[in-house]
Amino acid sequence: MAVVRQFQGPIDLHAHSSVSDGTETPAELVRAAAGAGLGTVALTDHDSTAGWAAASTAARTAGITLIPGMEFSTRVQYASVHLLAYLFDPADSALLAEVTRVRAARLSRAEQMVARIGMDYDLSWDDVLAQTTPGATVGRPHIADALVARGHALNRSAAFADILHWKAGYFQPHYAPDPLRAIELVRAAGGVPVIAHPATRGIADVVSESRLKTMVGAGLFGLELEHRENNPEPTARLYELATKFGLYVTGSSDYHGTGKPNRFGENTTAPEVLDRIIAEGHGSAPVYG
Ligand code: AMP
Ligand code: FE
Ligand code: FE
Ligand code: ZN
Repeated sequence: MAVVRQFQGPIDLHAHSSVSDGTETPAELVRAAAGAGLGTVALTDHDSTAGWAAASTAARTAGITLIPGMEFSTRVQYASVHLLAYLFDPADSALLAEVTRVRAARLSRAEQMVARIGMDYDLSWDDVLAQTTPGATVGRPHIADALVARGHALNRSAAFADILHWKAGYFQPHYAPDPLRAIELVRAAGGVPVIAHPATRGIADVVSESRLKTMVGAGLFGLELEHRENNPEPTARLYELATKFGLYVTGSSDYHGTGKPNRFGENTTAPEVLDRIIAEGHGSAPVYG
């Protein structure tokens, strides 16, 4: 039986709202996606699904399709590996427990980083809170915004290149599960896991053929190989491995509002790939606007 496709393109499967480190509310983000000409957008805030409800309402009004998602923080040694997850059950208790643990670790880590920065710069935790929507997943971008507000950096990118860079000595990692465990949790919650920007420096080094093979065994669906931060050489290597392991390839912008230069639709995902994500995702449903 042929399945009637209910969504339209262009399809952009990675975007952040003020529920994490984007600058627009979930509703504003969905309206911006529609205004940019997208037919389908995924909301993928870091370690949070708090924006799904407002984004769903906005998608119905704007007449575009919303794919509920999340960018799950995972870690291999010192490398931070981001796992995009789509259409999972946001109330799944095992997944929720792990996400809650990561969010708590992010918060205390940010407080500790700010305490250290505060020894050398005029910066307090209240400065960071002033840049953060209540309940949002706190990250270095909020510390960056506070540094900008205090005049210690020109913009987010400059803060990341300087004070927030690990070489400056203030950086601290935070707890996050192994990607293998995260993939299992996402699948067990009915979701579809895709490694975000896997060919960036740091991540590419830990996504070896053997580790990728293990992740495929655990249920990995695909690789986000079309992303502005992926480097050409590891991207080519991972395209070959995607073919070898039968992984799907996605493309997305990783939009953060004015928090990053990334624009909606600068990379997109093929409709056939989204067909598969919808076929395999059964923890929540797309919102067809
Ligand atoms: P964290 O997870 O708290 O260590 O912060 C990492 C987040 O900061 C990533 O999800 C990116 O969205 C954001 N980020 C990294 N580098 C930059 C940059 N140069 N400019 C703006 N945002 C950045
Ligand atoms: Fe981010
Ligand atoms: Fe990411
Ligand atoms: Zn992202």
